[in-house]
Amino acid sequence: MRPTRALINLDNLAFNLRSSRSFMGDGPEVMAVVKANAYGHGAVECARRLEAEGVDWLAVAIPEEGLELRKAGLTRPILCLGGFWEGQAELIIANRITPVLFSLERAEELDRAAAKLGAVTDIHIKIDTGMGRLGIRPHQVGQLARDLQELKWIRVDGLLTHFSVADRIQETAYTRAQIETFNQCVEEFRTFGHKPKYLSMANSPGAVVHPDCRSNLVRLGGILYGLGGDVLPKGVPAPELKPVMRLETRVSDIKEFPQGASLGYGRTFTTEGPSRIALLPIGYDDGLPRTLSNKGTVLIRGKAAPIVGRISMDWTLADVTGIPTTAVNDIVTVIGLDGLEAVHAEDLAVQTDTISYEITCGIGKRVPRIYDQGA
Ligand SMILES: *Cc1c(COP(=O)(O)O)cnc(C)c1O
Repeated sequence: MRPTRALINLDNLAFNLRSSRSFMGDGPEVMAVVKANAYGHGAVECARRLEAEGVDWLAVAIPEEGLELRKAGLTRPILCLGGFWEGQAELIIANRITPVLFSLERAEELDRAAAKLGAVTDIHIKIDTGMGRLGIRPHQVGQLARDLQELKWIRVDGLLTHFSVADRIQETAYTRAQIETFNQCVEEFRTFGHKPKYLSMANSPGAVVHPDCRSNLVRLGGILYGLGGDVLPKGVPAPELKPVMRLETRVSDIKEFPQGASLGYGRTFTTEGPSRIALLPIGYDDGLPRTLSNKGTVLIRGKAAPIVGRISMDWTLADVTGIPTTAVNDIVTVIGLDGLEAVHAEDLAVQTDTISYEITCGIGKRVPRIYDQGA
């Protein structure tokens, strides 16, 4: 078997859930966001463990992801954050997926399907209080709340909104305004006779940084996977988190080059002296960003080996001249710990001008996820 693999430490996932819960005290229910294959960590396995740990809700981005969880036997309520697409109303109802809705058209489609199936169906309504993405604008709340009264087969079980800068302390005023607007919209919904049970604003940084936005349901993604390093502001109290994913491969060949040899596509690297170069069976299809070419490092025998030349689709080269004992088959840590050294997804994110979520989401399909081993 190709030795490139992602090791997923489910104990650390459970630790992060417990740690986040105790940080928040007994307050909100926790919705674990497992969209995008649990940020690359494996949706079914992560959801199973989180369910066993008593998580209250699961959240996905699209109905297909909810279906995958139901087929695997997950039983917790599932919120579909991105609603559903035309023609998917029956799939939503049949699989007990609660959709987030933000248009009357979708609500009517769901109401018709629910009437046909004779099943009153819960929905959550999203309000755009300042993200400028999904959700009805606050001035539309009254009208929608009134229109929804007519739809007898759907029930507003929750209201939610989403923060755009909960992670930025300097912009706390903006987040405060979003909270304020949301609370007003909730009141308005209630005046039309709706009784939403769940009020939900917080994502990971919201839940950690702004206690009064936790309400009775928080939606946690990143911090469950231990990815707090770049989505939580520095210097504020935060729960202790452990990384969940380790990405590793093995040295598949080692070659000696004289000074002046060019390596890889585009000849972007030339050896400055006699060099030992390790060939690694991991490339950008596996999720090692090509922008780390001549920039990133991997860990071998507890030491950092620079990535040299272009990262290609399937292969990467690392300079191991400074690690003379390197041998074929040595473990190569791409994300994780090796001795006293560590590479975090957050580090790769800084080097590639993104956030850690994009790094773990980008771990390719052909990289097997191996569960319950060290991260
Ligand atoms: C992805 C997502 C979340 C989770 O955000 P994290 O920063 O990973 O905690 C919460 N709410 C919505 C609507 C989302 O799309």
